[in-house]
Amino acid sequence: MRTRFAPSPTGPLHLGHAYSAILAHDMALRAGGEFLLRIEDIDQSRARPEWEDLIYEDLSWLGLSWETPVMRQSERQPVYRDILTKLWNSDILFACTCNRRDILAAASAPNEGEPVTGPDGIVYPGTCRTHRSDRGRRPIPQEASLRLDMERAASEVVAFEETGHGPQGETGSITSTPCELVSEIGDVVLARRDMGTSYHLSVVIDDAEQCITHVTRGQDLFEATKIHVVLQHLLGLPTPVYHHHRLIRDDQGKRLAKRDDARAIRTYRDDGASPEDIRRLIGLA
Ligand code: GLU
Repeated sequence: MRTRFAPSPTGPLHLGHAYSAILAHDMALRAGGEFLLRIEDIDQSRARPEWEDLIYEDLSWLGLSWETPVMRQSERQPVYRDILTKLWNSDILFACTCNRRDILAAASAPNEGEPVTGPDGIVYPGTCRTHRSDRGRRPIPQEASLRLDMERAASEVVAFEETGHGPQGETGSITSTPCELVSEIGDVVLARRDMGTSYHLSVVIDDAEQCITHVTRGQDLFEATKIHVVLQHLLGLPTPVYHHHRLIRDDQGKRLAKRDDARAIRTYRDDGASPEDIRRLIGLA
């Protein structure tokens, strides 16, 4: 049993991260398994070394230990590039130059009905998918994002095992038909123009590279898991067991955000709290 915690170093860890990390760590410990750490720093415009240092400090202070070396996604661009090239050559991606405004305008056109929202926002209305001339064995265009052509990618029912709960209480075997994948998720971005990859592509490649058998993470990523399973099928990678957990919320019921410094682990540390206090606060004592 191998599980992991995969924070992005774009701000201080807060109580929600502590919940996720401790839950994954304790699950591994109980099963006699391994707990790994991965720094998800593909967004180099937001990642900072000082946030990464603070991640190690906070987790150690919480009493967690992890396998080394720690994987850092910023060092894995060539791997992502190779896999994207393979997908591009198999004619399953298309280049997209739409920005958010274009997508909103196209999705709100009178003949489109109500825009559908998926894990990444509005389901892509397909504007650039029709430009088929840029597909195939040509170099990958530099100035465009690359989207997965979901209609071509989703050829069969995909499934994963959920041992936690999705936001609507979903648990057990979670299946998605090709039709659901096309209408509810659509042509997601696999390589952002400014990043050369995306969260979805990197997380799938790296969970497989780290031989993760159990993915523990927040319920906000439950729907995105359907994308991950499609990618695992396309790339011939195993599908781990998923355990999506509840989100830690503030007093108003809003989920905690990175900018919510008041609930940063560092703030609690500075105020003299103990790791046991943190466990009690998040219900993991
Ligand atoms: N890096 C993601 C985050 O910080 C977590 C991704 C995951 O656990 O799959 O929200």
